[in-house]
Amino acid sequence: MPKYIFVTGGVISSLGKGIACASIGRILEARGLKVTLMKLDPYINVDPGTMNPYQHGEVYVTEDGAETDLDLGHYERFTNAKITKFNNVTTGQVYNAVISKERHGDYLGKTIQVIPHITDEIKERIKKVAKVSSAEVIIVEIGGTVGDIESLPFLEAARQFRLDVGYDNTLYVHLTLVPYIKVAGEIKTKPTQHSVGTLREIGIQPDILICRTEKSLSNEVKEKISLFCNIRKEAVIEARDVDSIYQIPLVFKSQILDEIILSHFNLICKFSDLKDWKETVVDRALNPKNRTKIAFVGKYIGLQDAYKSVYESLTHAGIANDCKVELEKVDSEDIEKEGADKFLRGISGILVPGGFGYRGIEGKIKAIRFARENKIPFLGLCLGMQCAVIEFSRNVCDLKGANSTEFKAKTKYPVISLLEEQEGISDLGGTMRLGACPCRIKKKTLAYKVYGKGLIQERHRHRYEFNNKYKKKLEKKGMVFSGIYPKQNLAEIIELKDHPYFIAVQFHPEFKSKPDRSHPLFKEFIKAALTVKAIR
Ligand code: GLN
Repeated sequence: MPKYIFVTGGVISSLGKGIACASIGRILEARGLKVTLMKLDPYINVDPGTMNPYQHGEVYVTEDGAETDLDLGHYERFTNAKITKFNNVTTGQVYNAVISKERHGDYLGKTIQVIPHITDEIKERIKKVAKVSSAEVIIVEIGGTVGDIESLPFLEAARQFRLDVGYDNTLYVHLTLVPYIKVAGEIKTKPTQHSVGTLREIGIQPDILICRTEKSLSNEVKEKISLFCNIRKEAVIEARDVDSIYQIPLVFKSQILDEIILSHFNLICKFSDLKDWKETVVDRALNPKNRTKIAFVGKYIGLQDAYKSVYESLTHAGIANDCKVELEKVDSEDIEKEGADKFLRGISGILVPGGFGYRGIEGKIKAIRFARENKIPFLGLCLGMQCAVIEFSRNVCDLKGANSTEFKAKTKYPVISLLEEQEGISDLGGTMRLGACPCRIKKKTLAYKVYGKGLIQERHRHRYEFNNKYKKKLEKKGMVFSGIYPKQNLAEIIELKDHPYFIAVQFHPEFKSKPDRSHPLFKEFIKAALTVKAIR
C-alpha cells in the first residue's frame, strides 16, 4: 500500500510549498524510498500553458509534453521522480473530465455534485499517479492557501483519503508562516493557530507543521504552537530563511523530519545522512571559489518566477564549475532603446531565454550581435535561438529585414516560420511542439563536444521552427546546424565557428538540469565564461 503525504499551505502564498515538498521527497529518497510528487492546482484553466508569466511564472514542461506548474520543476530537480502529465491536476481538468462523463451517461440518473463526484475524480487522479509511478510515497501538494474557496474540493478529497486508505498511510503536513513583528520584537503564532483552525474545520488535523520564519523559534514558541495546534512538539519543524534552496533538505534532516514521517508510516528504512547532497550541492553552492558575471536578457526579468528553471540551471552550472554566477538581469527593451554597449560591457556571458511575441525582440537581437561580434560566450534557448538566426541572417547574410513570421507575418525573408502542420491550428492550449524529441548531433561540432554523444533527448515548447529554405545560405557564412530532429529534418542546435562559445538550441535544456547533474550546455557555457575576458 503506497503512503500519501498531503501538503497544504497557510497564512500567505509564496512560502515555498513546492520546495518544501521537493525537499521532503529528497530526504525520503535518501532513505531508499521510491517517491513521486504531484501538484493539485485550484484554477479553472486546464493547464497553465496559456497563462501569462505575470499570472503564473514559468510553465514547466514534462518529458511527455505536459505544460505544468513550475513546482514540478522543483520536484524533478530535487528528486529522481519521473514527472508526467498525470502529476499536475487542475480544477479545469477535473471538471472537464466529470462533465464529459456526465455527457457520456456514465452517471446516468444521478445529480452530479462536488461531493462525491468531483472529489472522487480528484482521488482517482491521485491514485492513478501512485499506480503509474509505482512509488512507495506520493507527496501531494495542494495549491493555494487554506481558506481559499477554490481549493476546498481538493482539501475535502485529501480529508476523505485518510478514511479510504487509513491513518497509517496518510500524513498531513501544513506549511505556515510564523512572522516576526519588528516593533514588538516578537514572533507571532496567531496566524498559524488560525490557519490550523481553518484546516480543522474542514476536518483535517495536520500531523506536521513546517514553520517558515525569519528568526529561530524558541522552545517556548514551539511549545505554544504545539499546544494550540494540537501537534506533537517534535513535529513542529522550523524552516528559517536560507541562502540556497538546496539547504532545505538538510534543514529538515537536522530536525529528523524523515524519522518523524517514517515512524508515522511504520516504515523502517536504511539510514542516510545526506552527505552526498551536502558535499556535491550545498557546500559548493555556498562556498564558490570563482565568480563570473552573466547577462540574462529577457523581458520578464522583474519576475522571480518567470524563468525559474533557467535561473536554477545557471546555479547548477555554477556548482559544477565551483563558481558563483552573478546574474545581471537586463530588460531587452532597454537594450532596444539604448543599445547593447551600455548594458553588456564587463559581462562574461550572455543568455537569451525563451519567450513569445514581438515585444523586446529587437533588444535580444542586439544583445546577440554584441555576443557574436565581441566573442562573448552566448547561450540561446528556444526564442533565443530564433533570434540568433534572425540576427545572423540580417547582419551576416545580408538578408535585410529577415524575421520570424511570429513577429511579422509578411516578412521578405521568413527565416523562422510555421510548419504546415501548425498553420491551421486555432486552439492555443496544448498545441505547440511539446515534450521530448530526439536530436541527432553532428560529429566534430561544439554541440558534440558539449554533450559527448551523438543522440540526445530534449524537451520542446514552441510553435515556430527554423526555415530550411535558408539553411545553405546561412551555412555558407559560417553557421553550423549541429543538431537535427531527424524525423522532420528540423534544426535543433545552431552554433558558430570562430567563436569561443556561441550555441543556441530550439529546445529547453533548462528543464533537465539538476543541482548535482548540471546540464552540459549550461555547464560548458559557464566554463567558457570563466575563461574569456569581458569587454570593458
Ligand atoms: N515564440 C517562439 C515559438 O513559439 C519561441 C517559444 C519559446 O521560446 N518557448 O516558436
